[in-house]
Amino acid sequence: MTKQYNHNDIHWLTGQFRNRSNELKYRDSIEQSVRFESRFAVIVVAVLFAMFGITDYNLLGLTREYYLLLTMRIIVVSSCLILAFIIGRSGGYSRNVWLHALPLWIVATGIVLIVPLRPESLSTQVTAIVVAIMAFYLLIPNLLTVSALASLYLSVSFLAVAVVFAELSPVATVTIGLLIMVANIVGYTALLRIEFLQRKQYALLNEEREQNKELQAEIAHRKSLEEQLRMVAEQDALTGVDSRAHFMKRAEALLKRSQFDKAPFCLFMIDVDHFKKVNDTWGHTCGDQILTKIVEVCQQTLRPNDIIGRFGGEEFVVGLPNTTANDAKTVAERLRDNVAALSLEGDMSDLRLSVTIGIAVANSEKDDLDSLITRADNMLYVGKREGRNRVVI
Ligand code: GH3
Ligand code: MG
Ligand code: MG
Repeated sequence: MTKQYNHNDIHWLTGQFRNRSNELKYRDSIEQSVRFESRFAVIVVAVLFAMFGITDYNLLGLTREYYLLLTMRIIVVSSCLILAFIIGRSGGYSRNVWLHALPLWIVATGIVLIVPLRPESLSTQVTAIVVAIMAFYLLIPNLLTVSALASLYLSVSFLAVAVVFAELSPVATVTIGLLIMVANIVGYTALLRIEFLQRKQYALLNEEREQNKELQAEIAHRKSLEEQLRMVAEQDALTGVDSRAHFMKRAEALLKRSQFDKAPFCLFMIDVDHFKKVNDTWGHTCGDQILTKIVEVCQQTLRPNDIIGRFGGEEFVVGLPNTTANDAKTVAERLRDNVAALSLEGDMSDLRLSVTIGIAVANSEKDDLDSLITRADNMLYVGKREGRNRVVI
């Protein structure tokens, strides 16, 4: 089985999974938190951006520049709030990534537009830009690619506007440029690490889940093997009744229980008469079918509490709890009759089957299963000697 997730499959530059479908699955997995955090962050940014309007008033008074700035701030803030609403409804990272990029670009444009309207406050603006860059990378939950592009746009356009409108000297331009570059590098590296670690964690979790699934499948497979083994050990493959060993175990328990309860217990030893001749005449396959049929007759004739085992070849044993000697004899006779009445199909329709049954009755607490079996076996031989097709008790 090939592993779907590999925690080494993350791109070194974007911090995203190289495998597109894994990347989308990861983004789907964080959709809920992304919606909530993104919306929250965009609202906070909008509020902060609006609050800086106070400094506009202090610096500019009620001038034309002030009104232009105010209009710009209103546009930025209201579009951010609208976007926050939309992100809250349908903003995951797997689809509509642009939804998360848009507020960043709008805020970036707003910050840049302050420069031509308030060129004398450039030093404050530089601080604001550095803070904004860090916020783009670290505070606003966003994809590294989205943050990096928006931050790059903010950096370049700010520098360009500053050079044109605030008449920056070449030395100041280089200094501010370097500062902004450092902010970008720090922000980028930090977010790259976060993205990388989050995806690695996600991949490891999924790897573990996959391994767990394999383990579960392996356990299920083993269980079914165990079950098969148990069936092989406990059941006779041809007839489905208890194997000899399993019968002995169950009969032993039933006998003990009967002795404890002072209840009667009987045992049948059943042997099919002249079965060798059946095999010789009709073949082993037909012989097998007949054995199965005889077992069916036994199951239909006996009670559900009685247990049947294949003792070997064409010999079967039956344990009958709560059964007196008289009842056992009646049941055995009925069984013998039912076998004799068995009608076979086709070529074998003329074949008359019969069984001889030896019965042993447990009559003292000292009776053990082996002695019961020996006694039933002896009765069976008596029956065979006396001409077969009979019940001997
Ligand atoms: P009787 O018991 O009446 O004395 O005669 P019998 O011919 O039944 O006695 P015997 O024990 O000599 O023969 C049993 C035969 O049962 C021998 C063997 O070929 C056959 N047998 C044993 N196990 C199987 C089996 O699983 N399938 C088939 N078809 N025959 C089996
Ligand atoms: Mg036999
Ligand atoms: Mg026989």
